[in-house]
Amino acid sequence: MSPEKNTLVKGASLLGGDAVDIEVTDGVISAVTPSTTPSGLVVLPGLVDLHTHLREPGREDAETVLSGSTAAAAGGFTAILAMANTSPVTDTAEKAEHVLDLGRAAGLVDVQPVGAVTKGLAGEELAEMALMADSAARVRVFSDDGKCVGDARLMRRALEYVKAFDGVISQHSQDPALAPHGACCHEGPISAQLGLPGWPGIAESVIVARDVELARHTGSRVHVAHVSTAASVEIIRAAKAAGVAITAEVTPHHLLLETDLLVGYDPVYKVNPPLRPIEDILAVREALVDGTIDAVATDHAPHARHDKDHAFVDAAFGMLGLETALSVVWTVLGDRLGWDGVAQVMSANPARIAGLAGHGHSIEVGAPANLVLVDPAARWTVDRDASRSLSRNNPWHGRELAGVVRATYLRGTETFSA
Ligand SMILES: [Zn+2]
Ligand SMILES: [Zn+2]
Repeated sequence: MSPEKNTLVKGASLLGGDAVDIEVTDGVISAVTPSTTPSGLVVLPGLVDLHTHLREPGREDAETVLSGSTAAAAGGFTAILAMANTSPVTDTAEKAEHVLDLGRAAGLVDVQPVGAVTKGLAGEELAEMALMADSAARVRVFSDDGKCVGDARLMRRALEYVKAFDGVISQHSQDPALAPHGACCHEGPISAQLGLPGWPGIAESVIVARDVELARHTGSRVHVAHVSTAASVEIIRAAKAAGVAITAEVTPHHLLLETDLLVGYDPVYKVNPPLRPIEDILAVREALVDGTIDAVATDHAPHARHDKDHAFVDAAFGMLGLETALSVVWTVLGDRLGWDGVAQVMSANPARIAGLAGHGHSIEVGAPANLVLVDPAARWTVDRDASRSLSRNNPWHGRELAGVVRATYLRGTETFSA
């Protein structure tokens, strides 16, 4: 059989630069040549999300691997890391392989399972991390996300353990003692005004500081999930300057949405970490631009209506993010990052952190044809009812954003087009 060859992309601007045609043979880029007929679209490497909640197994009413994969492809993603806090928890090789199989059956993005650090996310006993690493799922990222690995001794042991296979612990940094049960938002003037129980920003930064010390001591890799405060940024910046193996991500919502939004008590804005004041938002933006924060990750957290449509204090934490992430980043920081910067923080860096060999590559001959086409000039108004997610907890509903995903390709196969 002769190889299947076709010109997949015609006249797209390569990372915002010159227009190119991209020829693909059997899912791999076989030629990148200058184009004389620019299409006005931009081509980027397929996006990689370090932090997605898919809810399957266990809560298929909120999201399945298929529905989440569909939303991811529509957002320009070709690979997503599926967090372990499902029911049951992804804490064995068998369960990780099950998630991998569900992702392959959906076939729209590469679904890479994240393994739990502790059995059942209970924070007591380490999960079978080496078996997950050796399994067909080849797990490299471990996280108890939703919960913090609060026990320093356990965190130390986990870091020593994953070092053998270049694994990384992605930490949900939240000191349990500083974030009491029932706290539902950022502690500050807004929480006082609204009479809502809050927790302080230092609940995040004290764990970041502790984990920097553990990473320094063990020589192992820590990844800080959803950084949201200026204090955390300062600690990470100093740690990186000192050569500590620490990486970090920020969510689209922490780049734009302020704690003031809570004045209407709308539970769509209830999220963990909570929305912060503008000084924190400006700090995480600067950190993303200067490389202190390595990646944008969605923390896409779908919730069924009966879990989210409650009084603010009782509603579930979390918001959707897969379909809007690229547009939010482009809207907020496009002028400072450029398309090459966007590709760095949404594709190359997350793929490197997660150890995903087939993703995050440059667009060049020999690389897998994982690509996304974006219309940089188009704008759109987000409509939660048009979402591919099964859930509707979309904080971007009604907002106008810049940049529209027109097509996504996974190894040369179209997974989305609009
Ligand atoms: Zn988290
Ligand atoms: Zn999360």
